[in-house]
Amino acid sequence: MPVKERKVEKPTYAVGARVDKFCAKCQEERGHIVATITKRGQISRVSCPKCGLRSSFKPATGPRSAGASAKASAPYDRTRTYRTGQHLTHGTYGPGEVTAVIEPQKIDVLFSDRVRRLIHSQASV
Ligand SMILES: [Zn+2]
Repeated sequence: MPVKERKVEKPTYAVGARVDKFCAKCQEERGHIVATITKRGQISRVSCPKCGLRSSFKPATGPRSAGASAKASAPYDRTRTYRTGQHLTHGTYGPGEVTAVIEPQKIDVLFSDRVRRLIHSQASV
């Protein structure tokens, strides 16, 4: 990744990053995926990976309880076949939630910082 070594005070966002937001449709606070950002690097719209609802994003105000409930999820196993909505724990990225099955052997997983594409359903032999 060609990222310039530069000190940035503010966190900058990118499409595909994860933000936590209350979903009006799911009626719960959950991880959303950044769908669009402004030229200044601010999140403008996010989408809910569970119901697909797109909504505008306002930066969080005030303190909020840190951390979603740390559910114990089974460790990520590339030989397993995952379905949308399943939770897993990746050895490097930590806990995540399957947001989409892209191809028969590729899934998108929403981790605490962003979405990552993983493989699954790999024959172990
Ligand atoms: Zn939702």
